[in-house]
Amino acid sequence: MKGGHDMMIEAQTLILGAGLTGLTVAAGLRRAGGRPVVLDKSRGLGGRLATRRAETWQFDHGAQYLRPRGPEFAALLDALKPSGAVQAWDAAGEGAPAYVGLPGMSALVRPMADGVEVHRGVRVAAARRAQNLWHLSGPEGEPLARAPVLICTIPAPQAAAVLEGHPLAPRIGAVAMDPCWTLMAAFAAPPDLPDISRAPDSALPWIARDGGKPGRQGETWVAQAAADWTRAHLDLPRAEAVQALLALLRDRAGGHLPDVLHGDAHRWLYAEAPSPLGVPCLSDPDSGLIVAGDWCLGSRAEHAVLSGEAALAALPPLAAAASAMSAG
Ligand SMILES: Cc1cc2nc3c(=O)[nH]c(=O)nc-3n(C[C@H](O)[C@H](O)[C@H](O)COP(=O)(O)OP(=O)(O)OC[C@H]3O[C@@H](n4cnc5c(N)ncnc54)[C@H](O)[C@@H]3O)c2cc1C
Repeated sequence: MKGGHDMMIEAQTLILGAGLTGLTVAAGLRRAGGRPVVLDKSRGLGGRLATRRAETWQFDHGAQYLRPRGPEFAALLDALKPSGAVQAWDAAGEGAPAYVGLPGMSALVRPMADGVEVHRGVRVAAARRAQNLWHLSGPEGEPLARAPVLICTIPAPQAAAVLEGHPLAPRIGAVAMDPCWTLMAAFAAPPDLPDISRAPDSALPWIARDGGKPGRQGETWVAQAAADWTRAHLDLPRAEAVQALLALLRDRAGGHLPDVLHGDAHRWLYAEAPSPLGVPCLSDPDSGLIVAGDWCLGSRAEHAVLSGEAALAALPPLAAAASAMSAG
């Protein structure tokens, strides 16, 4: 894996996004003997399957747990169990088994990136088709990469912006994604809260003791704000967001919280798609483009895997057409 970027990347297949969708595609291509190249703007792997570390604390500030409903996702989790990268989190239960990654949520995707060329810290601002190739460029217009086939797996609003001008862009851009302010707090003592509180109609629909998950410890808590609350506070400076979120949490904890040893917040601009696209991926053989992501089908990690699998299935005919075009 590579960090930063200082050269033009040439590949047969470029995958934009090293989240669960992009790495599902990358791992599948790799298994089939391909050599995909993955680009991601962030420093880590896993996208919204994320864990933040600060001092001695750690917080899953994106996806909270994984609950397989279909065989594909269940098989992926089963394959990871022997390595200890995935364990059941019984408290999240509600009947069906739920799992978390160990030591953090992104442990799930790490094996998928094995042997795959991943360039991190590469923000793609635009992807344009010219002379039978995709040309990817950065925020200053600097050329970054080119390839006959592009698989775009970033959140819908970002994909629509990067692919501006492409015939599929308006359809992608029509899928809105809700934002989510997420609180990460460590306390000196247990707050007066159950390990998990689900309250869908409140300003904090999800509160959980992250430290209670397998392999974690301590009074580390994660709370997610509702989309409406987040929108109303979207531009709050981070420190103020922390205080506002702590105030909401305090209300829920009976008006009192123990001493806060660590408090931070993360603003997910594109957390989930309330009205997903409705098909597992989009494919345009004429331009060698596949567009995938959880938002095609829903807002859960399983949807990312299913969309990635669908992209893999759509790839062979599209890749054959693209290489014939670039050869001609
Ligand atoms: C707060 C929160 C809680 C959640 N809770 C759960 C849960 O409990 N259970 C569950 O199953 N799911 C949950 N989810 C959803 C789950 O995290 C996602 O469905 C899944 O991780 C999406 O994977 P993805 O690969 O489609 O997208 P992402 O993980 O978003 O990956 C896209 C990648 O593209 C990169 N990228 C974006 N734009 C660019 C660009 N211009 N240039 C380069 N790189 C770019 C990003 O850095 C990112 O790594 C939650 C999500 C959030 C935000």
